[in-house]
Amino acid sequence: AGWFNNVDLAPAIEVFQLTARYREDTDPHKVNLGVGAYRTDEGQPWVLPVVRNVEAMKAADQTLNHEYLPIVGKPDYRKAGVELLLGKASPAVTQNRVDAIQALGGTGALRIGFDFLKNRLGMDVIYISKPTWGNHRGIAKSLGYSKIVEYHYWNEEKMCLNFDGFKADLESAPPKSVIVLHACAHNPTGVDPTHEQWEQLAEIMKRKQLFPLFDCAYQGFATGDLDNDAWPVRRFVELGFEMFAAQSFSKNFGLYNERVGNLIFISSSSSSIPMIRSQMEIIVRTTWSNPPSHGCHIVATVLNNPSLRDEWETNLKTMANRILQMRQLLFDKLKVLGHRWQHVIDQKGMFSYTGLNKQQCDFLVNRKHIYLLGSGRVNMCGLTTKNMDYVAQAIHEALTTI
Ligand code: PLP
Repeated sequence: AGWFNNVDLAPAIEVFQLTARYREDTDPHKVNLGVGAYRTDEGQPWVLPVVRNVEAMKAADQTLNHEYLPIVGKPDYRKAGVELLLGKASPAVTQNRVDAIQALGGTGALRIGFDFLKNRLGMDVIYISKPTWGNHRGIAKSLGYSKIVEYHYWNEEKMCLNFDGFKADLESAPPKSVIVLHACAHNPTGVDPTHEQWEQLAEIMKRKQLFPLFDCAYQGFATGDLDNDAWPVRRFVELGFEMFAAQSFSKNFGLYNERVGNLIFISSSSSSIPMIRSQMEIIVRTTWSNPPSHGCHIVATVLNNPSLRDEWETNLKTMANRILQMRQLLFDKLKVLGHRWQHVIDQKGMFSYTGLNKQQCDFLVNRKHIYLLGSGRVNMCGLTTKNMDYVAQAIHEALTTI
């Protein structure tokens, strides 16, 4: 018998399996609403023009090399990431109470953040929203958190935030629990708390001594405005929280496969920053040792140059606006067919939680070649002006016959 004879086949990861099925499908009407990446109105991936520009400059630059970066990452990139999220005038920035560790995307940031909290601070209970991005549970589980609790988030019946449930769960959370929050454009529901609701959540978290960890994967995607989208994080800093933020540039720079992120940490005192950083350095050293350079070089170049930054913000608005247009168009088409999908307009960011049930989703996948997650989550930018009629008609059929 071999060592590996008893290794079981792990379950497939739904979103990647869906994309594989989509690729194999030869039907001309096929539509991929599964994958979490931006698509143009031609259904193609989009390399941001500003990224192309910087890549061309980079290719011509003979001073660049492939030496290792510092373990904690490229300094001007880390600083730019902090200032993008918190704002230059943030009290944490002006008082030197914040730093960042370059990480392999938002996922890497969550990984080292969860690791630090578990293995350096002894936190053992972590709260994630119900539903949430599947990897939150996966990462917490692999780091051995003994309690992974789901807090109420989605009101299925009314298709909105279950705010009372959310608050009640925080009220009953034990002190020192880690609370994973989506800064904006909640994945998968597209529903975010209002400013007033964030104030109430903050009050409970402060009183109950809960530790906020913001997952910031979609800054700029919720409203098209970087400052607006960062509001909850900045407000928590103003309120004096010590906290983490896992920052990703995968979506807002379209740099998915370059793995560009930061784990940002905010302390109440500047003197603890070097201590935290030194512990993080050990975690990174034993996890991936050194971060990659290509993506962070692009992001730092753009964020640190005013005209490139303007160009980037224009590119970002192009993406956010296209998503808004698709929301409106889907709403309009379904209205003509007799359905009132207000939620598709109200939801924010790349995703919409449609409310379609599993049978209806299966019908769309198996009979209509429209690929979406079994939860009913769709990527709004999988929709285009060309496939919209087909998709709306198919949803109408699903709603009326299944
Ligand atoms: N957090 C959320 C909520 C996400 O949706 C994603 C990506 O889909 C990530 C984190 C991770 O992003 P990255 O690809 O940068 O690791």
